[in-house]
Amino acid sequence: MKLVTRAAWGAQPSKHSLAYIASTLGVKVHYEGAYVPKSLAAADAHSSCAGRMRDIQASHLANTREDYSDIAYNAAVCPHGVVFEGRGLHRRTGANGSSTLNSQDYAVLAMLGNSGLVQPPDAQLDGLVDAIQWLRSGGAAGKRVRGHRDGHATSCPGDPLYAWVQAGARRPDGEAPQGGPGGEPVGGTAIARYQVTVNGLPYGYGATGAHVTAVGTALVKKGFGRFYAVGPGPEWSDADTRAMQAFQLSLGYKGTAPHEDADGVPGPVSLQRLLGTLPGKATTATAPPYPGRSAFILGKTNPAVTVLDGGLVRRGFTRHHAGKAYAPGPLFSENTRLNVRDFQRATPALAGAADGYPGPLTWRLLLS
Ligand SMILES: [Zn+2]
Ligand SMILES: [Zn+2]
Repeated sequence: MKLVTRAAWGAQPSKHSLAYIASTLGVKVHYEGAYVPKSLAAADAHSSCAGRMRDIQASHLANTREDYSDIAYNAAVCPHGVVFEGRGLHRRTGANGSSTLNSQDYAVLAMLGNSGLVQPPDAQLDGLVDAIQWLRSGGAAGKRVRGHRDGHATSCPGDPLYAWVQAGARRPDGEAPQGGPGGEPVGGTAIARYQVTVNGLPYGYGATGAHVTAVGTALVKKGFGRFYAVGPGPEWSDADTRAMQAFQLSLGYKGTAPHEDADGVPGPVSLQRLLGTLPGKATTATAPPYPGRSAFILGKTNPAVTVLDGGLVRRGFTRHHAGKAYAPGPLFSENTRLNVRDFQRATPALAGAADGYPGPLTWRLLLS
């Protein structure tokens, strides 16, 4: 395999630190979904492929709506079959469509379009298999290979590449991708090492805070203290994951492999069952004054929208920003409006007129 490292193609540093991920169930294949010139596949055009990587990364870093930390893909493969390191091994992708989907699979981009260059050259298919094997051997990717459209509403990775995925993601000579620990980390028992955010607070391996100590303490109280050699403490360790897993199994949850229901990484339901309440980031007791309807005009920015976004994030109404590192910002986007509408629909006093535009009552109920 021909691998071009980030340094070699001139990557910019990540904007935010990238989430560590120990293993995945597999790899999802993507395409660019826009016009890609056929000339990119010419034998003498490879010298422009590194520049294309820089352009893709720059466009992701400039995408304030998605607030990507880096190029969204773990790797990309040019038409000449060369593999470019993206986020790389053991880094959670931002490309699959939701935080769950991003934790389940790595993402590999084929430099291929929905017009112009639409058929993957043989060399590119070889390169895609190289990338998949690299993610398996170095990143503990599991055996499945899927398309972005599996489980998410998108045409990606386009019909030709999707047909190739469905036929087994084989090399042009018919050889299937090799290796793959089947979702288990290499050389050890599978233990989930990813994080989730519940009500604004992080849980899972490496998460820190007083709320982590509170979870451990509650687990000990419920009789799951045998997993702790030391602690519990404010940094989420494998001991916390194992104790939480035993608690989830006691609730009747099934599936102990990473990303299954009883993998020891809590969701809102198991946390509530454990703690009796769902902790959240400290909220302000009273809402700031309503800024007026003119603060919320689609496509326009206003400082009040950042405050509004903060309330949406705290209360977990971020579905329409799903899967992205979503940070509150001043733009009143269509996604923001849809998140507000979800909040209104879920709030009996507001459900009758849920249009996604915050009036004084929406503002007060969301922010107090
Ligand atoms: Zn895609
Ligand atoms: Zn190339």
